[in-house]
Amino acid sequence: MAGLTIAKLTYMSIQAFLSNMAAMSGLILSLLVSTWTGAVAFAKSPTMTAKIYDRFNMDSSIIVQMPETKNGKLENSTVKIGSAENVYPDANNCFCFTINDIRSAHIKAFYFANKKIEYYNGILQNLGFPTLKNLRIDIDISPGKPAQGQANGNESIRIIVPTENFDETVLGHEIGHSIHFTVAKHHAGLYGWHARLFVEGSAHLLSGIFFNTSRIGEADLKELADEINQELRLPDKVITRGDKYKRITFAEKFKKTYPILAEQILRAVGKYIKGDDSSLDQPDQYYSSAVFTQPLWLAAEKYGSEVVLRIYFLALPNVHNPDSLSSVTSAIIHEARKYNPTMGMELEREFALRGIEASKK
Ligand SMILES: [Zn+2]
Repeated sequence: MAGLTIAKLTYMSIQAFLSNMAAMSGLILSLLVSTWTGAVAFAKSPTMTAKIYDRFNMDSSIIVQMPETKNGKLENSTVKIGSAENVYPDANNCFCFTINDIRSAHIKAFYFANKKIEYYNGILQNLGFPTLKNLRIDIDISPGKPAQGQANGNESIRIIVPTENFDETVLGHEIGHSIHFTVAKHHAGLYGWHARLFVEGSAHLLSGIFFNTSRIGEADLKELADEINQELRLPDKVITRGDKYKRITFAEKFKKTYPILAEQILRAVGKYIKGDDSSLDQPDQYYSSAVFTQPLWLAAEKYGSEVVLRIYFLALPNVHNPDSLSSVTSAIIHEARKYNPTMGMELEREFALRGIEASKK
């Protein structure tokens, strides 16, 4: 992937709903978005191609080279689409399916997962870390609900998406978790509020850098895309879950598109206002993770995304207390300083501006 060209990393308000639902259901839910990316060639299967639909416009598609498959199964040493069986190319050796064919969703997941994991595995390998292999991905189509995902360590992912032409960054975010947990297994399953913020921010960052996007949730419900990172956002917000709830209930389009969920959110907001649910006073892990990801995004723009990824990955095993943002950023600043003292200083300043002081060792 070429360097970053987008100035901001953004999150969208629909995340508020998802994060609250996550707490209620115990799932880790997420939603992400990316810019539409063009075909990237794979060396593995030069004769096979596949049709990938643009998530913003199902009338638009591109033909890409297909990653290696195994006799009717979307499976190779990197990824396995558990929910896909009997997926064969047509007479022209193209995995070309109509948009409302579930196989087009399987192909999309298989293609982007291979592409993203190969990209990150290359970096991990260079740094001497283990790589992500044999990731199982299952896809469910569930109309009438915004996309959600769940990562089970670095072993499997499940995404639930409203249509076959799903937003590939839902998957990108969950794969971000799998990559993170490949490097730092002990960060999986953390439930402290700041640890969640760190873990969700990491998944955002790894998806955002890969897909080179600063907007989240656009394809799923553009009207709700909330560009919280449009500007530098100095001493900034850790936005509570309740605050995000409130925003969502004011979005007419959301109410129309997801009436049942809107009703649930409204009830939760009622509790929040009455002070009956203290968890709603906690930082929202998706929105507020900008305090952690934004400085890294800014550094990626200045020094290149691969530099930032290198520093981020090298820092991960040294994050001793993931539920302390100071512990997280101290490990990052430490690695950044070794690489480039100025960059380390800048990161420290940007974190501090967002209220995260580096811990004194
Ligand atoms: Zn997540």
